[in-house]
Amino acid sequence: MILIDGKKAASELREELRQEVAELKTKHNKVPGLTVILIGDLTPSQIYVRNKEKSANEVGLKSDVIRYPDSVEEKTVLEKISELNKDDGVSGILVQLPLPKHIDKKKVIEAIDPSKDVDGFHPMNVGNLSSGYESSVPCTPLGCYLLIKKIEPNLNGKKAVIVGRSNLNGKPMTQLLLKENCTVTITHSKTKDLKSECLEADIVVAAVGIPELVKGDWIKEGTIVIDVGINKTEKGIVGDVHFEEVSKVAKALTPVPGGVGPMTIACLLKNTIDCFKRSQI
Ligand code: NAD
Repeated sequence: MILIDGKKAASELREELRQEVAELKTKHNKVPGLTVILIGDLTPSQIYVRNKEKSANEVGLKSDVIRYPDSVEEKTVLEKISELNKDDGVSGILVQLPLPKHIDKKKVIEAIDPSKDVDGFHPMNVGNLSSGYESSVPCTPLGCYLLIKKIEPNLNGKKAVIVGRSNLNGKPMTQLLLKENCTVTITHSKTKDLKSECLEADIVVAAVGIPELVKGDWIKEGTIVIDVGINKTEKGIVGDVHFEEVSKVAKALTPVPGGVGPMTIACLLKNTIDCFKRSQI
């Protein structure tokens, strides 16, 4: 079984991006800039943002974090986004989710200029992705896609089963694999027989949020299994896939932690650089 090393893949991707940023600096005399808006003091969000900032600096991007207290008015955030949209030094804008209840997530996402939407959540980018046009792609599914392609460069005709239909993971994952000519089944909490669906798959991507949901006897031999889940349990952090069981049958499997997670931030940096490159054409 191939243990898909997300840390190594992310480190290789960051090195490629570092070289690309250096080349862009020589060519345009400026570097791509990522601005993150962080509202409130939720610990996981603080940690994510710190890691994003650290990784951005590592590859040579310009990185800024704008912090607001929980009590900030929606209007203030929308005005700041509008200001950043017009700022030539800002290639990518990310508003760290979740937001406090009094702030409308949809309004905030739609306020970001789609050409600077490094999370790929703006309806324009969602539409472009599903139409097969160039777009920013949500970072986690993009990371999963790159890991799958490392194992299997030609995905033509492969049967993929996506477990979970969130806008963040399942839906964009479906679009990415459709673009690669996979036959894709998207499953969710109301799917009648998840085990039978998974048993048909050459590729399974699990993004559910239920510890060890996908069992060894759900997976046929030779399947590539990507585990997006991050679940806190008594025995520590586990994924949505039962690692011990599935590792006995799968062709390749991502561990949790150390699989998909590290790729997510690396893909955010990639998206920022791609937004910058599109803006220079
Ligand atoms: P979500 O809650 O938005 O969506 C979960 C999906 O799972 C829903 O579509 C739901 O229909 C489906 N589902 C629920 N119960 C099911 C069941 N019994 N059988 C089949 N499908 C079922 O979750 P999300 O935001 O997509 O996140 C999923 C997991 O991925 C979470 O554990 C989250 O922490 C993790 N995550 C990891 C990363 C990363 O970087 N590795 C990034 C984002 C999310």
